[in-house]
Amino acid sequence: MASRRDFFKSFTQPLSRTKEESLLLVRPPYGESESLFQSKCPSCESKSCVTSCDEKIIFISDDGTPTLSFKVNGCTFCDECANACNEGVLSLENSETSETLNTIFRISLESCVAHHGVICSSCKEPCIDNAILFNGMFAPVIDDDKCTGCGFCMARCPTQAISYHAFKIENDEKEES
Ligand code: SF4
Ligand code: SF4
Ligand code: SF4
Repeated sequence: MASRRDFFKSFTQPLSRTKEESLLLVRPPYGESESLFQSKCPSCESKSCVTSCDEKIIFISDDGTPTLSFKVNGCTFCDECANACNEGVLSLENSETSETLNTIFRISLESCVAHHGVICSSCKEPCIDNAILFNGMFAPVIDDDKCTGCGFCMARCPTQAISYHAFKIENDEKEES
């Protein structure tokens, strides 16, 4: 499996987002391109991706397109939203977005108590990809090459030290070039 960085051409360090990047939404997996979400989803009457998700993390944003929230749960990459979408926006054929979301996660060095001498591994347990690396029992960081962006760590952090932001899905840049 290729690096997550290979999937998203617009990767930059998280604190240097452009204005355009800061407006991007986290999309359900299996999407082909950001432009397809924008062109097809607002007129989709069923919004069947929302009801298909057992984790209940898909919501419809103000522009009528689906986005994910990690406030309670994360994505299990269960395929159900792709199976439910009849408009071709989500498809199991989009292998590049079938195992990762268009997100980059970070742990705040200021807010994370394990960076300040307190033993805490609340975020590590739900991470089945073993993407949160500890230095002994302290100083956790997220390994971008292992992190799928599933979001399950976020709600587990007692100090809300984990945050994320979205990146544009690669295929859009192909379309624009
Ligand atoms: S079911 Fe498909 S087309 Fe409809 S809102 Fe969800 S992703 Fe968009
Ligand atoms: S893959 Fe499954 S858990 Fe993830 S957003 Fe789609 S329906 Fe929800
Ligand atoms: S660090 Fe682990 S739990 Fe958190 S988003 Fe990445 S893969 Fe998911």
